[in-house]
Amino acid sequence: MTQEELFKKLIAHSKEYGFVYQSSEIYDGLSAVYDYGQNGVELKNNIRQYWWDAMTRLHENIVGLDSAIFMHPQTWVASGHVGAFNDPLIDNRDSKKRYRADILIEEWIAKQEEKIEKEVAKASKRFGDSFDESMFRQTNPRVKEVQAKIDVVNARMIKALDANDLAEVKRIIEDCEIVCPISGSRNWTDVRQFNLMFDTKLGSVSDEANTIYLRPETAQGIFVNFLNVQKTSRLKIPFGIAQVGKAFRNEIVARQFIFRMREFEQMEMQFFVRPGEEMKWYEYWKEKRMQWHRAMGFGDDKYRFHKHEKLAHYANAAADIEFNFPFGFKEVEGIHSRTDFDLLNHQKHSGKKLQYFDPETNESYVPYVVETSIGLDRTFLMVLSAAYAEEKIAKEDGGEDERVVLRIPPALAPVKLAVFPLVKKDGLPEKARAIMNDLQVDFACQYEEKDSIGKRYRRHDAIGTPFCITIDHQTTEDDTVTIRYRDTMLQERVQATRLREIMEDKVSIRKMLMSIR
Ligand code: ATP
Repeated sequence: MTQEELFKKLIAHSKEYGFVYQSSEIYDGLSAVYDYGQNGVELKNNIRQYWWDAMTRLHENIVGLDSAIFMHPQTWVASGHVGAFNDPLIDNRDSKKRYRADILIEEWIAKQEEKIEKEVAKASKRFGDSFDESMFRQTNPRVKEVQAKIDVVNARMIKALDANDLAEVKRIIEDCEIVCPISGSRNWTDVRQFNLMFDTKLGSVSDEANTIYLRPETAQGIFVNFLNVQKTSRLKIPFGIAQVGKAFRNEIVARQFIFRMREFEQMEMQFFVRPGEEMKWYEYWKEKRMQWHRAMGFGDDKYRFHKHEKLAHYANAAADIEFNFPFGFKEVEGIHSRTDFDLLNHQKHSGKKLQYFDPETNESYVPYVVETSIGLDRTFLMVLSAAYAEEKIAKEDGGEDERVVLRIPPALAPVKLAVFPLVKKDGLPEKARAIMNDLQVDFACQYEEKDSIGKRYRRHDAIGTPFCITIDHQTTEDDTVTIRYRDTMLQERVQATRLREIMEDKVSIRKMLMSIR
């Protein structure tokens, strides 16, 4: 199965099993906006909880905030979003499709890099054990030539974007002979800047002054509340403020399912530090955040850092944590050293001092900020992509069957325990209900009595339920049940009274938190 096929299946599976639906589907949908179904909302809540607890419980000096989506319009002037939250866009006249010009160039670069990797793989096969990869990369004429081309284009793109030279961006696209993936033509319009913020009107008078924006990031709600939180919590620097909430961006290229949405949720933490200490904390948070990802157990090789060469207007260092999605390594989280850019600008635009008095140094200053910013929906997609597996399994009659299983970390799974009476009679449903009654306050449980046990297993494999228990006639005699494990499909007979203890150990977020403490 190709990665593309896998991704298509994942999208279909998400819909079929109540994880993600297209928004307003009965009206043919709204592009790049999605709704979460009964299982999706549980998974999303669990991921959110894991992040929240990792941030606020494991760090005494991090507290939460829930600020409004609407903010004073000056906020976005101060933050630079009104002036600079733009993407360069370009249209193909034949397909009428719109693209982000920088992404077209980045994809071209990625293709060139693939060519290099192919050469390296070929040579490695040819030379076997004696292959010196770094020497090959430095000396092979073909590799050198492609690498040189990449370096030139990359440097040109960074320079052009920095200088806002859109004509040069178009020239790069022409020079690289980039074609539209749909029409195959090079019939491009000029490159234009496009502001990604959605605006709306506040109140009933519709003049300019009443235009307000739907926040494009949650961070600014933290910045404008920085002193409120500091004073009321009496936290000392360094300290952080964490927030989860919706953000809105009118994305030009909104494909790839919930990877790039127009309405999405961010989990952001702004960490306020002494000026000059930001690099130490930047490194600290890069490491901490990577640990958080790895504790989900999808394999360390699924992640990598990507250092930003072209920095955003507010940053002096930035790196992404990238995950290997079915469509390649892509950003799930950004760690940014935002300097004092935001606080200084809010100070300037509001006329209010946003300074912190440091009792240790007896100085007042505007703190520097290190931010960790992760998309909840993108993390959701990461979990689903890593968890989705199709497996061949042996049937009892000797034949072969197939199952789709979501190997979601048990602590994040939408349903933790499925409870099945073997048959719908002989007091088994009543017994099953009693067990479920006992456990459902602590764990997300589901009761199912329809269809064969095998079919019920399949349904729960498909939504990632880590444990299924079956109540049979023996249960009524000795109070034992069979517990069946999702990943191994092994079954075990255990005392019903032990279920809580077996589950607690495996399904609580506690274990993941302990491993990153
Ligand atoms: P990209 O380069 O993919 O557009 P970005 O660098 O603009 O992302 P940030 O502004 O750093 O993203 O936002 C932090 C996080 O928010 C991202 O790492 C991503 O997980 C999430 N995010 C950003 N834009 C979207 C979107 N349109 N849909 C879903 N998640 C998003």
